[in-house]
Amino acid sequence: MAFKRMEGFAGSVPQGFIDRSLKVCPLCGTNNPHWSIDQKMQMKLEGNLYLFQCEQCKGVLSSPVPDVTGFNNTVLTTTGLLKKLSGKKNGVIYLRIYDSGNNVDLKDSIGKEYTLQELNQMASEKSPEPEQNGKFY
Ligand SMILES: [Zn+2]
Repeated sequence: MAFKRMEGFAGSVPQGFIDRSLKVCPLCGTNNPHWSIDQKMQMKLEGNLYLFQCEQCKGVLSSPVPDVTGFNNTVLTTTGLLKKLSGKKNGVIYLRIYDSGNNVDLKDSIGKEYTLQELNQMASEKSPEPEQNGKFY
């Protein structure tokens, strides 16, 4: 795998998406994940995957390419319809924990899917805020 920042035009969609959507890594809580991106080709109906790697913990989140680029926002596309049929909401982006990186306690979560909202919730609970002393688990 070759993770890298996608700065050019072709990479601006996924890079902009992840930088904008997850400002704090939900896996390790860093507020500087500096996401790098790789693509994984796969022969599955959901399409190819984007892999997003946190620079700090090396944890990886994945999302089907059509989700990121927005084609799943309508049931008029095959992948959008498939998503609808599988009980998911169109227009809601799901990310899967692909690799837990250095976060040993998250090994059990590999393969689970979360919405962006849930991931941001996780991130805010992990983020080392001075006024948050209590553990959530
Ligand atoms: Zn991280």
